[in-house]
Amino acid sequence: MKCSASRPNPGHLALAEMERMINGRNGTFTLVTQNIDGLHGIAGSRNVIELHGSIRRWRCLRCGKAREEHAVAFEQYPPVCECGGFRRPDVVWFGEFLPEDAMSRAMAASISCDLFISVGTSGVVFPAADLLHIAMEGGARTIEVNTEPTPASSLVDWMLTGQAGDVLPELMREMEGMT
Ligand SMILES: [Zn+2]
Repeated sequence: MKCSASRPNPGHLALAEMERMINGRNGTFTLVTQNIDGLHGIAGSRNVIELHGSIRRWRCLRCGKAREEHAVAFEQYPPVCECGGFRRPDVVWFGEFLPEDAMSRAMAASISCDLFISVGTSGVVFPAADLLHIAMEGGARTIEVNTEPTPASSLVDWMLTGQAGDVLPELMREMEGMT
């Protein structure tokens, strides 16, 4: 399937809804993701930190300008910016460093949060796995959502087993019922 044709699942939608609910209660919701498919934004999430960039965005190697191109066929390959520089997908390739700005914003959100939910990550990918530890150090309560136990499971306050698309909508409904 083409990446541009993929659609958000109930898990993406539940997280977007969670953000709207928490904002409505004067809270802050930050979504940190290692996904590059941009589906959280399409689902309606606004405060998203993409640690590995987005495959839906191109970045110019010369002027650094990045912009989204949805399902556009390029007239030439490799695609070229108005400035004449070559453009590449705005993602972190294997062996490249994570964007420093994204990582520091993710760390700041983690150290200051009250609740940290880790969803469907193996819990071993450095340095994103560190965010859980940073949140715990900051005094956050922690939830893990995963289909199977990970190294993080014994550390979190609550382990919810199942697919994110099933567990997150249910978690959202529970949170909605809380005052
Ligand atoms: Zn350029």
